[in-house]
Amino acid sequence: MLLAIDIGGTKIAAARVENSVIVERRQCPMAYEEAGFRLAIESLLQAWPAPDSVAVATTGYIDAGRVRSVNLDIIPFWDGFALGDMLRSLFDCPVALINDGQAAAWGEYLVRQQDRPQDGPANLLFITLSTGVGGGMVLDGQLRLGPHGVAGHVGHAGVRLAPADHQNCCGCGRKGCLEMVASGSALARQATAIYGRALNSAELFAMAAQGDAKAEAIIANAACAVAEAIAGFYMILDLSEVVIGGSVGLAEGMLDRIQRALAQLPVRNSPKLTAARLGGDAGLAGVVAWAKEQP
Ligand code: ADP
Ligand code: ZN
Repeated sequence: MLLAIDIGGTKIAAARVENSVIVERRQCPMAYEEAGFRLAIESLLQAWPAPDSVAVATTGYIDAGRVRSVNLDIIPFWDGFALGDMLRSLFDCPVALINDGQAAAWGEYLVRQQDRPQDGPANLLFITLSTGVGGGMVLDGQLRLGPHGVAGHVGHAGVRLAPADHQNCCGCGRKGCLEMVASGSALARQATAIYGRALNSAELFAMAAQGDAKAEAIIANAACAVAEAIAGFYMILDLSEVVIGGSVGLAEGMLDRIQRALAQLPVRNSPKLTAARLGGDAGLAGVVAWAKEQP
């Protein structure tokens, strides 16, 4: 049995996989300190048979077997955490690790490639708008990890922001990152500041759906920032398709807002913009596909 795990800034999802098919799926909230994280993994997987191998898609990137964080604010203990060693001590079997956006990019690429073997998207960029903003890219049909495993961290691309947005420093240490405007955390921070009470991103979307103009402005600004970033990535990478995922990216109307913002930009040729076909499980399904190809 392959055990697939997707670790995000907000939740941990796990799947029991037999012959490349997910036979059971569970999820629980992410824990923000080491002991709690180990407990969360143990209780999430309770009563499942011992795996023959484990494949993990995780927030952060994998450098020399350790997870590293770009945004140090999302999970305090993550940067340098020996995740692979911890999982090997729990399961005593091979453990393969990859960034969640990269795994999702590979999963989304493969489902399109299966549909159109002669004419799949040669260059695909996956963007997840989730707790943070992450991503992964498949260029000329190859998943790119980069020598340090960082490739695809689109959330730290600089975007043009309103002066107010420039006051917030990203957890990576820089100002002006896409993640500071368009992530679930950023939407919640902006909503909380404007309304003077704690609001999360799902509540903000619900308010916008009911016609609240201020809520709509926050979300539209995020969509514009994503579109600006896509226009830049398109010119650099000659993208055939950009796939949007993550709970914020898949929230009602977000893709349409990004599409509308992109249509306003003078881009030579816009890439095709689509929603993640694997939905919220793009990372999980992607890591299953990726694990199959690992030695
Ligand atoms: P993770 O970051 O753990 O991979 P998600 O992709 O689910 O997980 O993203 C979590 C973020 O999405 C959080 O900031 C959460 O508040 C936000 N979110 C969750 N559900 C919704 C929703 N229905 N609409 C808008 N935002 C949502
Ligand atoms: Zn940043």
